[in-house]
Amino acid sequence: MRILTQLDEWRSATADARLARQSVGLVPTMGALHEGHRSLVAAARAECDVVVVTIFVNPRQFSNSTDLATYPRELEHDAELCDEWGVDLLVVPSLEEMWPDPVLTSVHVGALSEHLEGVGRPGHFDGVASVVTKLFVVNGPCRAYFGEKDFQQLAVVRQLTRDLGFDVTIVACPIVRDEEGLALSSRNARLSASSRDSALGLSRTLRRVAAASGLSAGAARELMVTSLAEAQVETAYAEIVSNETLTPLGDDEAAIGRAVIAGFVDGVRLLDNGPVGK
Ligand code: AMP
Repeated sequence: MRILTQLDEWRSATADARLARQSVGLVPTMGALHEGHRSLVAAARAECDVVVVTIFVNPRQFSNSTDLATYPRELEHDAELCDEWGVDLLVVPSLEEMWPDPVLTSVHVGALSEHLEGVGRPGHFDGVASVVTKLFVVNGPCRAYFGEKDFQQLAVVRQLTRDLGFDVTIVACPIVRDEEGLALSSRNARLSASSRDSALGLSRTLRRVAAASGLSAGAARELMVTSLAEAQVETAYAEIVSNETLTPLGDDEAAIGRAVIAGFVDGVRLLDNGPVGK
């Protein structure tokens, strides 16, 4: 495995691969790698000749400075894992090259960015869309692997790929959970043993709402809010949204789409989602 830190080296490495008729798989991450990331790498490994993992904790997508400061950084261990998982290129770009000072360009993906995560985290998706755009520009044509764990992010990335005409195929990978159902996340490391119990309330709520058939979106929302409160999760939102536009369904519409949840447990912001109806 090669570890690259300069954008030019990365650009030429993937260009060389494509010249040699090798397909390139890109897995963008913020590090603190876990089994969720491993599943993305495994999908890329199975489908592509050259697998590229990027690790960049992108300050532009954090709206909370404490969250950025306390985000886990474990580069040495991450590099060992990538090597073990069969990654070919591990790219760890510098802040200076990713966002030279001053950076004046921002990518904004209209309506999709504005609800759900966009409400509690203003500017978050502009940060995500801007960084993903830069990664796609430098990496060049590829298949790019993203987790359904960040369902809205996936929709934003799909939209920007289509709108800006990148030669990139977006591949969605299912959510990886621990044995009790908690969706894996780098932020889980911040959960204490007691807050873990509360955190399990997110996936339990999703299972409950998926099991309750024939609900209206309004009733499904109520069920989720009650179930989250019971688990002592401080709910940021709990919605049934359309799979395509991610807009919340009206109260009287049938609950068919995606249940999406964000909530705080002990100050840690957790996300989860799952299918409902059909
Ligand atoms: P992050 O390092 O948290 O920015 O995540 C990098 C990529 O891994 C994103 O596409 C995430 O959606 C994906 N990912 C994170 N956690 C999981 C998980 N539990 N299951 C599947 N994919 C995940």
